Amino acid sequence: MKEIFLCKYGEIALKGANRASFEALLCRELKYRLSGIGDFDIIRAQSTIRIEPREDYDAAVLDAAYRVASTTFGIIAICRCGVAEKNFDDIKAKAVEYLADALGAARTFKVETKRADKTFPMDSGQVSAQLGAAILSAFPHLRVNVHTPDVVVKCEIRERAAYISAGQEKAAGGMPVGSNGKGMLLLSGGIDSPVAGYMMAKRGVKLEAVYFEAFPYTSIQAREKVIELARIVSAWAGSIKLHVVSVTKIQEELSRACCEDYFTLLLRRYMMAIAEKIALANECGALITGESMGQVASQTMQALAVTDNAVNMPVFRPCIGLDKEEIVTIARKVGSFETSILPYEDCCTVFTPRHPKTRPEIPKVIAEEQKLDFDALVEEALATDEVIYVKAEFTV
Ligand code: ATP
Ligand code: MG
Repeated sequence: MKEIFLCKYGEIALKGANRASFEALLCRELKYRLSGIGDFDIIRAQSTIRIEPREDYDAAVLDAAYRVASTTFGIIAICRCGVAEKNFDDIKAKAVEYLADALGAARTFKVETKRADKTFPMDSGQVSAQLGAAILSAFPHLRVNVHTPDVVVKCEIRERAAYISAGQEKAAGGMPVGSNGKGMLLLSGGIDSPVAGYMMAKRGVKLEAVYFEAFPYTSIQAREKVIELARIVSAWAGSIKLHVVSVTKIQEELSRACCEDYFTLLLRRYMMAIAEKIALANECGALITGESMGQVASQTMQALAVTDNAVNMPVFRPCIGLDKEEIVTIARKVGSFETSILPYEDCCTVFTPRHPKTRPEIPKVIAEEQKLDFDALVEEALATDEVIYVKAEFTV
């Protein structure tokens, strides 16, 4: 039987004058993401987007298309629907056939009908009642329960056809990627920064990323892990241009010339300054990092103030108010957790101070920083920038 997906969008339905451009962006994004899976029509109609296969695909292809649609930001819910002709006999027959698995496993159900096409001869109450009766006679074990049914059978009668489903599933939510500018994600191999990237992409921010390595103190596996994390995030956020920048020289100079207690803070300031320069050169309007308030010494309020003081760009920290456990829950959903916990060292842990400053004062940090030629070291690091295009792959 012919199957389609009805995608409902959330917030962008509320955008007045800009709505059409948000919808167009979302459709373009869907079209692109589905192109590796099959030939699909993307049709905008009545505050939904319909994804219609143009060929008879098997379940594996449709499952893959469904997965892709449900990881596309801007869509809040998706109904997988069987398609019926707009006459009640066909609606009845297709409902019984298409919903056989869902109804077979349920004990109670109810029918909800939405009649967008007001020329259809039955009203929605009549459709619900008669479809309910047909389902009861086809599945005699079922009972109707209008308050807490196991399955809500939805029947939407629209312009071109009637669509039948066992209800909608929650999708990715958020806003279409690219609708809110571009941000530079400081992507480490940890748990938090991939989650931070995911959260900003969810709000429509396109991502570019920078990873700071300290080869040979950090390994090639550590770099590969970060590339893999970028790949995982790209399934949600789209392709990511990843910059790999060496901070080996900076770390060596810091440990040679500066007070150990300030190592992490100073390195963080270098990272921010370098990231800001790359961001400016690549039309990014903000930096994105994965800090969470108080998680470690370099994430106290005073330490974050020291970090921010190194740049002028806004710094977004979407994990700031989350507990580790909450971040882990999101990391599992994103699919990054198992990769993040692989045990490869991060460049920050190579020269970790024994007694890091938890309440640093900016003038003291700057005095320490002035023992080195900050700008020259930033420029030297920028010269090592190696770009890796992490292409989002959407396949069956
Ligand atoms: P994460 O799990 O994201 O590594 P974390 O809790 O380990 O975070 P820190 O190591 O203190 O935190 O780093 C704070 C933030 O600084 C990270 O979330 C990330 O955005 C950025 N960062 C840290 N190390 C690197 C790195 N090697 N390359 C790029 N960004 C980094
Ligand atoms: Mg880290």
